[in-house]
Amino acid sequence: MPETKNNNIFLVGLMGSGKTTIGRQLAKRLGKRFVDSDHEIEARTGASIPLIFDIEGEASFRRREAEVIRDLSSQRGIVLATGGGAVLDAGTRARLVERGTVIYLRAHVNSILQRTAHDKNRPLLRTPDPRRTLELLTAQREPLYREVAHLVIDTGRPNVQSMVQTILEQLAALARKAAYASMTASSPVSISPFTLNVDLGERSYPIAIGPGLLDDADLVVRHVNGRQVAIVTNTTVAPLYLEKVAAPLRAAGRDVLEIILPDGEQYKTWESLMQVFDAMLAHQCDRKTTVVALGGGVIGDMAGFAAASYMRGVPFVQIPTTLLAQVDSSVGGKTGLNHPLGKNMIGAFYQPRAVLADTSTLATLPARELAAGLAEVIKHGAILDAAFFDWLEENMDKLVARDPAALAHAIARSCEIKADVVRRDEREGGLRAVLNFGHTFGHAIEAGLGYGNWLHGEAVGCGMVMAADLSQRLGQIDAAQAARVKALVAAAGLPVAAPDLGTARWLELMQVDKKNEGGAIRFILLKPLGSPSIGPAPDTDLLATLDACVAR
Ligand code: NAD
Ligand code: MG
Repeated sequence: MPETKNNNIFLVGLMGSGKTTIGRQLAKRLGKRFVDSDHEIEARTGASIPLIFDIEGEASFRRREAEVIRDLSSQRGIVLATGGGAVLDAGTRARLVERGTVIYLRAHVNSILQRTAHDKNRPLLRTPDPRRTLELLTAQREPLYREVAHLVIDTGRPNVQSMVQTILEQLAALARKAAYASMTASSPVSISPFTLNVDLGERSYPIAIGPGLLDDADLVVRHVNGRQVAIVTNTTVAPLYLEKVAAPLRAAGRDVLEIILPDGEQYKTWESLMQVFDAMLAHQCDRKTTVVALGGGVIGDMAGFAAASYMRGVPFVQIPTTLLAQVDSSVGGKTGLNHPLGKNMIGAFYQPRAVLADTSTLATLPARELAAGLAEVIKHGAILDAAFFDWLEENMDKLVARDPAALAHAIARSCEIKADVVRRDEREGGLRAVLNFGHTFGHAIEAGLGYGNWLHGEAVGCGMVMAADLSQRLGQIDAAQAARVKALVAAAGLPVAAPDLGTARWLELMQVDKKNEGGAIRFILLKPLGSPSIGPAPDTDLLATLDACVAR
């Protein structure tokens, strides 16, 4: 089924119409996450629904309900069972229609009475004449359910399985209809051009990309669920963007904890991670706390690992502020930190709930850091999209000048390419290795010169030139294509001449690259420009490449 409406399904209908039972099964069949707004309200307040009704009254309960549905409906890939009266709120109705496919489960009063006979959790049915109450509720709410519903399903089926089957068939029909409509007319598509969905089943999440995203207070609030929020950032980024993120969250009533770490790869350590845990525990952050990473790849990797492991996993949102983080590290779910014996050796795969890439934050990025991010952008074109590579050749001057439209396109296309690789190989079983194009040579440069002398992206830029040279020697690309790679890397402001580490040291460093298997170095090469190949290379060719690319 093509993705429609944020991949969400919202169930509406009277109490006892089977929203929870059917919703659970439906979520299972569709590989989505099931949530129930009543359960969520009880979890947030720590009180049962009848108790909230008794103590605060219905109006207050409805406000809580609207708030919970606003938060939940902003997620993706969920099946949400809403409370019977949720549609009374106009804002809720609008959000449901906009953010998901709404299914009205219509049940007859008789069957509801049967199903709720022994259920004491229904405050509105604690009346002398429940039948009369249900009839009144039906009269009042039926028009509202119909108003929001994309599908109306009668629940008078023999069992839950056949109900769910019917719903699946109806959904498929609806999707075909929508696909047809968008083919034949220029019918509106609900996803804006720069929101991509990383499609990982129930771990799917959106990446929003564009200038000024952080000025949209509602966007940040919408993606950061839970009462408590821990924003992890560093001493460089905090003065620039922390308030922009924290203020709207506070204004929306969230309890915001700010955790400001020292800046630098040398702080991507266990000690910094502990600093995050210390702050969160001292602040009594619970297991619903959202961890927000605000910064470059270092912060993203560490905050992600903190989110993966704090109380065995809490929600995580990425707000990447470097080009590298926006095109690379925030996509794919790798998190972690450095061990004294190796970079990125400790970590976890953990997907964020959302990534918000505000391209305006790149305005303050040092030019060297911008170029380093461009290396990974070029990489995506070189290995997987020849047309994108062409586009980069035409627009590199705009990218270097930070033209917002060009940057937004380059970031969006890069994320798409990487997200597609990740979708097909989330845990690096094979295909994902192609993302290491230029990295075997690059890692040797970083390690050989001592980490921090060249930025990772600079080393990768030069590494791609070397990998293209080797591809040409193996007859996989022609001289013109190798020259194009070199020219594009140079145009991005990246080095194209490799440092002289000595041939023996070069070979030794490439051998220890952690992606090697069984002794032979597996090179990611081009075959031709725009597609990858993986395999070993004869020593004579490798030596010739070193000879040609190393500056002496
Ligand atoms: P970084 O996080 O160190 O950021 C680079 C510098 O820019 C830092 O000094 C930072 O404080 C500063 N900065 C960040 N945003 C800024 C802004 N908007 N304006 C001004 N300055 C800003 O480095 P990076 O290149 O973003 O990330 C590198 C890290 O990412 C490495 O640790 C690497 O291992 C990791 N990484 C992870 C993945 C992954 O899949 N998880 C992929 C690639 C890289
Ligand atoms: Mg890289």
